Amino acid sequence: MAHPIDVNIQFPTELLIDQQLVKGEGPDEPILNPATGELLCVVPEASHEQVNRAVSAANRAFGAWSQTTPGERAGLLLKLADAIESNAEQFARLESLNCGKPFARALGDEIPAIADCFRYFAGAARCMTGSIAGEYLSGHTSMIRRDPIGVIASIAPWNYPLMMAAWKTAPALAAGNTVVLKPSEQTPLTALLFARLAADILPKGVLNVVCGRGTSVGQPLVEHPQVRMVSVTGDVATGRKILQAASGTLKRTHLELGGKAPVIVFDDANLEELVAGVRTFGYYNAGQDCTAACRIYAGPKIYEKLVADLTSAVSSIKMGSQDEENVELGPLISDRQRNRVASFVERAQMAGHMEVTTGGKLRPGPGFFYEPTVIAGARQDDEIVQREVFGPVVSVTRFTDADQVIGWANDSEYGLASSVWTQDVGRAMRVAKQLQYGCTWINTHFMLVNEMPHGGLKSSGYGKDMSMYALEDYSVARHVMIKL
Ligand code: NAD
Repeated sequence: MAHPIDVNIQFPTELLIDQQLVKGEGPDEPILNPATGELLCVVPEASHEQVNRAVSAANRAFGAWSQTTPGERAGLLLKLADAIESNAEQFARLESLNCGKPFARALGDEIPAIADCFRYFAGAARCMTGSIAGEYLSGHTSMIRRDPIGVIASIAPWNYPLMMAAWKTAPALAAGNTVVLKPSEQTPLTALLFARLAADILPKGVLNVVCGRGTSVGQPLVEHPQVRMVSVTGDVATGRKILQAASGTLKRTHLELGGKAPVIVFDDANLEELVAGVRTFGYYNAGQDCTAACRIYAGPKIYEKLVADLTSAVSSIKMGSQDEENVELGPLISDRQRNRVASFVERAQMAGHMEVTTGGKLRPGPGFFYEPTVIAGARQDDEIVQREVFGPVVSVTRFTDADQVIGWANDSEYGLASSVWTQDVGRAMRVAKQLQYGCTWINTHFMLVNEMPHGGLKSSGYGKDMSMYALEDYSVARHVMIKL
C-alpha cells in the first residue's frame, strides 16, 4: 500500500552560495518518490554563473578558514553533528521519500552514522600524527606540516545521499579546506536541508551546495581553475570522465567508484549466519550499494544447501514502500535503474546454465520495485559475476579449492570489498591476505566504522573515506626546513 505524501513536508529546494540560500537559475530537475513514481518537488539546477559564484565564495573563504585551529573547526563540526541529530526525523523522512528507503532504516541506521562521521572528524582533526621534526641534515631542522589543499569539489551519488555528503565534507572541512558540494541530481533534498542548517553554523563561503546534472553542473565545477581537488563517489565511467576533465588543470582527485564484492564461503562456514548475513547485506538499500554481498562463491559441499537456504530466506524479504510495517526492501532509485537490473537478470536466464531460484521479476503497479533475486549456477566468466548490477540480485558460483576461489575473487575489474566465511581462523587470514580488495570482512560483511578507512583498488578507485586516511587525502604533507 502506498502512503500519501505528508502535505506538511517542506521540501528544501534552494542552493547555498556564499551563505545565501538562493534559487537555482538553471533548468528544473523533477525529484521523484521511487516508491510511487510521483513528483515530490522540483529543484532548479545551478546556472554556470552560480557554479562560478560558489567556487569564488569558497576560494575567498579559504584564507580565513584555513587559518582556524583544529579545535575551532572541531567545535563547528560538532555543531553540525548536533544539528543533524536534532533534525534526524526530517532528514530521514526526506532521504526515505527521495530514495525509497524504508524510513526506519534511514532513521535508525543512516542518520546516527552520519552524525558520528562529523563527530569523528571533529576529534580526528585534533589528533593527527606524523614524522618527528629533527636534524636530518647537519645544521638544519626539518619538520612536516599537513596543510589544507584549497577549494574541494565534492560530487556525490544517489544511493546514500547525506552519508556520502558527510563522508566528503566532514574530513575536507576538518582539514581546513572549503567545499562546493554537488549532490546527485536525483537525490538533492537532504544535502539541501544540510545546507540550510550549515548556513547558520559555518562561516560565509566555507560550504556551498549546488545542484544539477553531471554534464551541466558537475563538469564546470571539475574544470574550474580555482578548484584544487575533486572528490567523487559514483560509477567507474563517471570517475574516468572526471579524471580526464581534472587533468586539464592537474587537480588532485579522490575517487570512490563501483564494486562487485566476492563472498567466499568455505564448506566449514556457519551456514545459518552466512544466510542471515547475505539476506541482509546483499539486499540492503535494494542492493544499491557498492559493497553489497552480491557475488557468492560456495564450497563444493556447502553449495546445494546454501542455495536452498538462501533462496528460502530471500523469498521472505518484505518489499514495500517507505512506511509499510516491517518493510525491509524498498524500490530502486528510478525506472531506468530497474530496467538495467531486469536486463542483467534476463541475460543471465537466457544463458541457459543459470537458474533464478527466487525473484527475477518487476513488481507490477506504481514505483520502481524489483523482487529480491538469487541466481544459482553462475560461472566465473558470466556477466552477472563480472559486472556491477547495483540492485537486489545475488549470484552463487560453486568452487572447488582455495586457490581457485582466490583467483576468481581477484579476477575482477573491481577491488572495493570482500568477505570470507569459515571457522578456520588460519585459513581466513591466509585468504584475506591474498584478496585484492580495500576491505575484507571475516564471517560478516558490510560493517563500516568511522575510525576505519573505506576505499578500493583497481577500478574501484583510490580515495579513502572515513578514518585518519581521509584526513590525509584531504590535506597535503609539506616539508619546512630551518637553517640553524
Ligand atoms: P554516477 O556516476 O551516475 O553519478 C555520481 C555523481 O557524479 C552524480 O552527482 C553525477 O551528477 C555526477 N557526475 C556524472 N557525470 C559527471 C561529469 N561528467 N562531471 C562531473 N560530475 C558528474 O553514479 P550514481 O549512479 O549516482 O551512483 C551509483 C554508483 O556509485 C555505482 O557505480 C556505485 O558503485 C558507486 N558508489 C561507490 C561508492 C564507494 O564508496 N566506492 C559508494 C556509493 C556508490
